[in-house]
Order: sequence, then C-alpha cells, then structure tokens
Amino acid sequence: MTSPRSDAPRAATERPLIKRVFLDALVCLRRGWLLHNPEGDRRPPGPGDQFQFAQGHAVGDRARELFGPGVDLRGPATAEWMAEGRRVVDDAQTRVAYEVPLAAGHAVARPDVLVREAGGWRVIEVKSGKSEKTEYIDDLAYTVAVTRAAELPVVGAELALVNAEWRLGGDQPALVRLDVTEDVLARSEEFLPLLEAVHGIVTAAEAPAAELKSACRKCEFRGARCFVDGPRHPVFELPNIRSRRVDEWIAGGITRIRELPETEKLTAVQQLHRRAVVSNALVTDAGALARLAEIEEPAGYLDFETLSLALPPFPGVAPFDVLPIQYSLHRRTAEGDTAHRELLVDPAAPDVEEFARDLLDALAGVRSIVVYSSFEKQRLQWLAQRLPALASGLEAAAGRLFDLLPVVQAAVAHPEFHGSLSIKRVLPVLVPELTYAGLEIGDGENATGVAGLRALGRLGDEEWARVRPQLLAYCKLDTFAMVRLHEALRALPR
Ligand code: SF4
Repeated sequence: MTSPRSDAPRAATERPLIKRVFLDALVCLRRGWLLHNPEGDRRPPGPGDQFQFAQGHAVGDRARELFGPGVDLRGPATAEWMAEGRRVVDDAQTRVAYEVPLAAGHAVARPDVLVREAGGWRVIEVKSGKSEKTEYIDDLAYTVAVTRAAELPVVGAELALVNAEWRLGGDQPALVRLDVTEDVLARSEEFLPLLEAVHGIVTAAEAPAAELKSACRKCEFRGARCFVDGPRHPVFELPNIRSRRVDEWIAGGITRIRELPETEKLTAVQQLHRRAVVSNALVTDAGALARLAEIEEPAGYLDFETLSLALPPFPGVAPFDVLPIQYSLHRRTAEGDTAHRELLVDPAAPDVEEFARDLLDALAGVRSIVVYSSFEKQRLQWLAQRLPALASGLEAAAGRLFDLLPVVQAAVAHPEFHGSLSIKRVLPVLVPELTYAGLEIGDGENATGVAGLRALGRLGDEEWARVRPQLLAYCKLDTFAMVRLHEALRALPR
C-alpha cells in the first residue's frame, strides 16, 4: 500500500534500502543505484499518481475491515516510528498490526498487515488487483525477507486481492485472501542474502556501469541519466519485439537495428521499421495505405475517455469495469468541413445510458467511424451488453468502426517513431504543427486520474469545474489529431 519514507531528506549512504530500489536493482543494478540516488527535485505527484494513492487507500481500508481491529502505524517512517514498530511486534498483546515499519540491517519494509499466529506471523500484502501476478510475489517476498531478517518468524504469506464478484450493496466481500506461502517463502530465501549486498551497491559512490538490455526499453532513466548519447535506434525499438530475442542479439554483439543482418526473420511491420532506420527516412507501403479507401464519407473521428475503479461505488458495476464517460467526435463531410460534438458525464455519478444515447445521436448519419485502437470497439460492446434497449444501435456503431492504427502500423514507418505507433509519437512526424504541448492534461494517465479522483470523492465541485474544460480539450485534440493524421496519410506518395 505505501512505502516507508522519512520526513527529512537524508544522504544516500544513510538512507535504508526500500522495496522498489531492491526489486529494480534485481533487474538492473544501475537502475537501483539511480533510484536510490535521485537528482534534482522530485516531480510532484500528478492526478494519475494521486488517483493510484487514493485507490490504494480505499482498498487498504477494506483490508482493515477484513482483518479486524489492530494497531495501525500509518504515517512517515521516522526513527521514532521505526522504534514504535519494533515495540508493537514485540508486544505479545498485538494480534493484528497494519503498516508496521520494520528494519533489518540496512533494509526496511512495511507489511500491509501482520497477523500473529501460533509460531509466528502471517504477512499479508494488499493489492488493488484481481489476480495473482509474478510481481506481487516478488513484492511480498521482499517484505517477508525483511520481516525474517528482523528475526520475526514468518509462518504464512498471503495476498489480499480485489474480489471480482464484489458489487456495491451486495453480499460478497470486497477482498479475497490468497495463500502464497510456499512461493513467497522460497523467493524470500533467495532475497535474504541479497539485502545487504544490494544496499552496498546502491550506496556506493559510483553507479554501476550501464549495460544495454531489453529492460532499458521502458527504463525512465534511458536518455536522461543513462545512455544519454545513444546508441541510436537500439534493437528493442523494433515494434513488438520479444525481450528474449533482444537480449540474444545484444549478447551476440548486435545492439542497433541497422546492425541486424538481412537474414534475420522479422515481421512485415518490423521490416518496414528497419528500412526506415537504415534509410533514415519515412518509408511507406502503398498496398497498406490503399485500405484508407474503405473509409466512407461522411466520416466521424471518435475517442473515449473512461473510468475504471477497483471498488466502484456505483450499483451493478464490477471491479475494474471500464466505463466510458467522455467522448469527442469530429465529423467530416465529403466537402472537407469539420464539426465537433462532445460529452463528459460527471464521474461522481456516471450515467452510461445518458452517455450512450447522446453518442448514438451524435453518430447518426456518420458512415465510417474512425478510431485509433480497438478500445472504442470494446467499450461499445460493453455498453451494448449493459443496455439491451440500445444494443442494436451500439452494435451497428461498432460495425462501422475503422481502426486507423493497423493501417499506420502496416503502412508507415519513420526513425523518429522509435518503434512506437502511438498517436503522440506518430503525430510530430506526420502532422508536426499539431502538438499536445501546453495542455494542462496532456496524457491518458492523468485524464483517467482526474476522473478517478472525482469518482472517489477526492475532487470537489469547484475543482471539478476547473479541470473539466481541460479534460474536454484533451479528448477534443485526440480526435482532431485523427482528422489531420488521416489527411496526412492520404497525402503520402503511393
Ligand atoms: S537504461 Fe538500462 S542500463 Fe540504464 S539504468 Fe535503465 S535499465 Fe539500467
């Protein structure tokens, strides 16, 4: 749920090892070091982060209902609080304890829940997810390793996960317990001897050397504090390339796309991308571009923003159901004029029927509905299942969708895409005059975060009135970007 932290900043050598640093260091020692030794001011949490915290708290509150009364040590892990944590677990009267800060050597951890049983403690990690994942086992294994290193015997390990069957007002519990003792104890056995070793590495004066690998693909430090000068277009920039293959190439001395031998077996999309990198230019596939002729006028360009909560406070909505709450529709006539229509329902009381009726009205007369991914199709199908009276109209709309993404994937590549076909990556190359810069909400994570905060009651009416126009502006730009991208694709030489 939360990580231990201190009120006052401390020197890197004095800071204890925390879970995120340890687990990231297992993937890349340099990444662990960079995390432990941050530079500059920490970025203040945006709406996306705040929503994740709020959601974690909401699920944590349910864990307190599930495990019952206990000592609650939420709060900053100051030295006094660490001492209090030790006192609490040493007190034979403590049966259940929440978020107790524990220290062992130079490592600290904070079990979400500790339950005293015969012979030791059951350690429970509370997760805002529905099913077991490998990373959950590793998260819990770190906590268990520190608990054991702190000389507290561990007799059980559990995940408390969101119950997919839970509904507001129903009789199902919000969380379900999953015993993972065997896996977690085995993994913690591997972690125990590494705790001090990793702390030694992340507190050393020099960062470990950078080593290119598949994990660099999504590393936040690449280009900023690591591999600042390249290599340009490393092999993991090939679209949809498997990590194992990337690591095999790098182990064999091939780090850049241009070094790949012609004989390497690649998909058509990967070959197109390689051609773009090798020629350092835009390359196109005329056959794939010809699919644009399937778009019938008048065309609409549609984008949804959605709301998805672990424990949605709305009747009949399942955990992590994805509710469409906002649409933007640009409509283009055969003469080339565009008109815009939009709707954003209040996430605090999302009326999906109002949303669907308004959307169907807006789509009347539109022949092809252009989207950029399969997301809108899935949401229309979800709405059709939920609203039988509107199902035929919604299914018909889903049948008129034209997904621009596979066309872009198969038809266009440019070195500056860096292997990504997201509209935000493609747009600066094909429509450079259109930009998301300057928008207060400029990405999906923060848009979803704002909606989630409103739904969880963390955004009052005044703040909602302030941010609502920003959400509208963001979604509107997404669909206008599609209009312009379509024009740019049509103008490409065949
Ligand atoms: S870019 Fe690669 S080598 Fe550098 S810190 Fe990230 S994962 Fe490690």
